[in-house]
Amino acid sequence: MPELPEVETTLRGITPYLLNKKIKAITVRQPQLRWLVPDDIHAAENQKILRLERRGKYIIASTGIGSIIMHLGMSGSLRIADPKFADPKYEIRKHDHVMFELSGSKSMIYHDPRRFGSILWTREPAEQHPLLAALGPEPLSDEFTGNYLFQQSRKKKVAVKNFIMNSHVVVGVGNIYASEALFRAGIRPGKAAGRVTAAAYGLLATEIKSVLTAAIKSGGTTLRDFVNSEGEPGYFQQTLNVYGREGEPCRQCGRIIKQRTIGQRSTFFCSHCQS
Ligand SMILES: [Zn+2]
Repeated sequence: MPELPEVETTLRGITPYLLNKKIKAITVRQPQLRWLVPDDIHAAENQKILRLERRGKYIIASTGIGSIIMHLGMSGSLRIADPKFADPKYEIRKHDHVMFELSGSKSMIYHDPRRFGSILWTREPAEQHPLLAALGPEPLSDEFTGNYLFQQSRKKKVAVKNFIMNSHVVVGVGNIYASEALFRAGIRPGKAAGRVTAAAYGLLATEIKSVLTAAIKSGGTTLRDFVNSEGEPGYFQQTLNVYGREGEPCRQCGRIIKQRTIGQRSTFFCSHCQS
């Protein structure tokens, strides 16, 4: 599943082709995504994209009259294609559901085999859209601190891993990065959020920022189904300490990495290094 670093990588990849470009035409080949692609998406035709940004795992392309809100879901990707028949990238592939033809002779194609992603249109300021209005702070913003996590978590019995994966608390901390940040901060993922100390949250906030920044730098981790904006696999392998390493030795202490299901998600940790 594309996580925040992959979405950020996608945004950076598509921005040069979209920013200040006019949307010449939108072709919806398959409107049945997680939500139906609305008919009024065509209002964006002949509009110039004035701003591109990411909020959580949403990519927002704003025009003068409204915004396109995109989410890659489980298996979605955006790629830039050159609409010349000589260019193999122009070839329409199975699961190419929505095409945006842009001025500057490029197209952006939304591809999504599992169709859990979404492409929506709003005439309201995007941040007021119901999907975006209740989101917590960005993990890489100054607003997101250990003190913020400490204050938000008092009296909460939920596991700290679920707490940091809740988008109302903080956006974009997915399963892999939650496991890795908790390992690096030395916190057991199943510990009640309300029992984690202010000092531990200080470390955790720092490690969340650090794992996400490292992943953005390397273009995201390697996972299936993600294709970056140039049509190449967009996840790059990065060294994971615990995620996916059940039964293997901890890189820090040599003991065996354990796996447990917390909040229906596979969770990996070292019971010696995390308490
Ligand atoms: Zn260990």
